[in-house]
Amino acid sequence: MKVQKKSSSSEILSVFSRVERQAQCVEPFGVMRRAIYPGSFDPVTNGHLDVIERACTLFDQVIVAVAINDQKQPLFAPDERLAMLRRAITNSNVRVAPMEGLLVEFAAFEKAHAVVRGLRAISDFEFEFQMALMNRKLDPEIETIFLMPKEEYTYLSSRIVKEIAKLGGDVSAFVPPPVAKALAKKFRIKLGEVAPIT
Ligand code: ADP
Repeated sequence: MKVQKKSSSSEILSVFSRVERQAQCVEPFGVMRRAIYPGSFDPVTNGHLDVIERACTLFDQVIVAVAINDQKQPLFAPDERLAMLRRAITNSNVRVAPMEGLLVEFAAFEKAHAVVRGLRAISDFEFEFQMALMNRKLDPEIETIFLMPKEEYTYLSSRIVKEIAKLGGDVSAFVPPPVAKALAKKFRIKLGEVAPIT
């Protein structure tokens, strides 16, 4: 005789929360597929924009979440990073928002089911894999998906763009024009600050 397993209260709660979250996402025209694309975006590059465009083909809405409590000591202030992203993104299905605290909490608050991350090379993999699994532990409802940019952007990072700009190089092929301008301004001001008094 088959014995039916009794559901534990935590299993019941988990099913309930899944059903509740799915119900919250039902919009007048069906289920809204919403994803979060989190990052520092210090500053936004053409590689980030490529990932955003790809994500837009898979989701109804993409929320680009700018990490505020960043331990990376960003060059640009949160407001500057948000403004540069908003200027660069024209797709009306994309929203740019600041994000403080845990990504899984932000995703649950925004009723998103997926987190999008960009994968450029094997070197990205270890960290991204660890973070995706940790986020899954924290909230099994949220799936992380990885998108590869166009080949020409696979060597591009905000860090390398900042290094080139700092040394006076031309970054116009790697970032939107307002970002190239902002970088030039930032480093001129910084260099001016440290210039020796003669
Ligand atoms: P973080 O500090 O979270 O790594 P970044 O702004 O550096 O923030 O990157 C955000 C996300 O975008 C990460 O998933 C990163 O791998 C991805 N990313 C960054 N640059 C590129 C690029 N050139 N092509 C594709 N993905 C990228």
